[in-house]
Amino acid sequence: MSMINQTNLITDYINFISTAKTERLCVDEAERLAVLAGFRQYKHSSGILMPGEKVYFKNKNKNFAAFIVGKANIAANILGAHIDAPRIDVKQKPLYESDGIAYFDTQYYGGIKKYQWTTTPLAIHGVICTIDGNSVKVSIGEDPNDPIFCICDLLPHLDKKLAEKKASDFINGEKLDILVATTEIETEDKDKKKVKEWVLQFLKEKYGVEEEDLVSAELEIVPAGRARYSGFDKSLIAGYGQDDRVCAFTSLMAVLSLQELPEVTSGVVLVDKEEIGSCCATGAKSRWFEDVLRCVLRPKDEVEFATYLARSRMLSSDVTAAYDPLYADAYDKKSSAKLNGGIMFSKYNGGRGKSGGADANPEFIAYIRKVMKDAGVKYQFDSMGKVDVGGGGTIASMVCDLNINVLDAGVPILNMHSPLELAHVNDIYNAYLGYTAFIKTF
Ligand code: MN
Ligand code: MN
Repeated sequence: MSMINQTNLITDYINFISTAKTERLCVDEAERLAVLAGFRQYKHSSGILMPGEKVYFKNKNKNFAAFIVGKANIAANILGAHIDAPRIDVKQKPLYESDGIAYFDTQYYGGIKKYQWTTTPLAIHGVICTIDGNSVKVSIGEDPNDPIFCICDLLPHLDKKLAEKKASDFINGEKLDILVATTEIETEDKDKKKVKEWVLQFLKEKYGVEEEDLVSAELEIVPAGRARYSGFDKSLIAGYGQDDRVCAFTSLMAVLSLQELPEVTSGVVLVDKEEIGSCCATGAKSRWFEDVLRCVLRPKDEVEFATYLARSRMLSSDVTAAYDPLYADAYDKKSSAKLNGGIMFSKYNGGRGKSGGADANPEFIAYIRKVMKDAGVKYQFDSMGKVDVGGGGTIASMVCDLNINVLDAGVPILNMHSPLELAHVNDIYNAYLGYTAFIKTF
């Protein structure tokens, strides 16, 4: 694979975010693309890796990493991004019927504005794991012939009382249940709910699962349909999950399309669970990340590993809020990322007293400026929002624990965490160019 031009990158990106709507689907897609680009899955038995070798790693179907061993295997240039996105998850005992309507009970994942998720077409993706070891894939709502799902909202004619509540209260978390069926099944048993029985029979016939199997299911409810261009000028991409799959995709493609042998070992790490605090075995706090670095760098002892880490560099790539003139009050305009301003870098993230931020060293920031300038990349520096209006962390603070120099980088977007996020095509392309320049330089 060679350097990708902007038109092809954007086309591939639209396909990626239209297909990879969950962490698992992102990992599947990343693996498919990596294999096409000549990467092979890493095996412990494969011995010392030689310069130019291309390997990939998977962890529990929700993490992916791909590395190219550089001319010198004494440090790593790493691109990191997260592949989870805010959504609505199906509860473990989800199915119930109320007055002739069957619902899946849900709990939302990550920070959402709940009202944005009602009356919008939704799809369900995930797996149902059975005790005989099967993992049944579920994907319904994307094909034009598939049904979609919906979370209902009260009509304006009857919501006088509700409309008086605060926006954060008028859709209660327990009201985000999706309507799944209304067809009744004939049953002799008077105690059995007839619509619920229909759903159970459907699940049995279509997926071969019983109600109790839903306890070990992971079903994610996400906006249905493909990403597409937005605006008369087609300057924007509208789609779900661009936080942070826009950085995951551009980082991945920077590694997969790298032509020259990088100076040091270079790669991309895609993690899960950022939206709920980077916890769990598949989040950035997991030792998996460190294990991958050990496998690739092969230090002879702890002292050597510590030396390699100390000279390694990372761009922790995540989206930031693009300045929105309609909500100017929330931003410090001069310090905010602009749409079409290029890849943005943040010294710190998080609000208030920089809590949750990485606060990168100025020496490292100056180095990044030089790399971007030399490569002709369009870039900007920003911080997200006004100091005391809010904030948010990224995976950078986790990576800092390994004593790696890390700087937040990414693409500015509008409508973050909504079912329809917007990103500028030029920013997406400059992110790809910036990541490419970063991994090949040392
Ligand atoms: Mn993010
Ligand atoms: Mn986010």
